[in-house]
Amino acid sequence: MEPPINDLQIECQVNELLDFPCSIDHHTREVITDKEKPYNCPYCGSKCTVTGDIQCLLEHLRNDHHVEMHDGRCFSHRYVHHNPKHYHHATRMLTLLDCYGRQFCLHFEAFHLKKTPMYIAFMQFMGDEEEATSFSYTLEVNGNGRKMTWQGVPRSIRDSHKTVRDSQDGLIITRKLALFFSADNTNSKQLKLKISGRVWREH
Ligand SMILES: [Zn+2]
Repeated sequence: MEPPINDLQIECQVNELLDFPCSIDHHTREVITDKEKPYNCPYCGSKCTVTGDIQCLLEHLRNDHHVEMHDGRCFSHRYVHHNPKHYHHATRMLTLLDCYGRQFCLHFEAFHLKKTPMYIAFMQFMGDEEEATSFSYTLEVNGNGRKMTWQGVPRSIRDSHKTVRDSQDGLIITRKLALFFSADNTNSKQLKLKISGRVWREH
């Protein structure tokens, strides 16, 4: 499919120490997906036209887009953006999170809002809108004595990645601010952002 995404990398994996075992309800998943109309591939920014149920899309994301899947409700990722001063096109990263027997897309993207360079991170639920609202999540960017936290409700993948991004429904960090969080802000050719987070089910 697409070539691997340009100059954005992910360094850290799920922080297993923070994790709890999660239960999987296969029965509910089958009942729900049977009734659903197909979903579009949630891979951001591609012109991918693949549609299908959630299981089919998970296989597709892994096999064709080489998206990584992490188990657990908590995660900690370090995003490394090479040459952040010279990005001219949107730069994106997608990872998957598997917990509560469901899957979530964690998007991280560098883009321009009008002319201001920004980063946004947000979560999308691989399922319908109604079930998406039964979950909440937090994202936290942390570094150099600074911390910023976002709490949100994952959006269904029925909404496109672009729709969610353009509605700014996520953790937004301007590039100027991101430099203060960066693990090594003396190196302007590489920006490192540590983003951790958690998903939980509301009662
Ligand atoms: Zn796709």
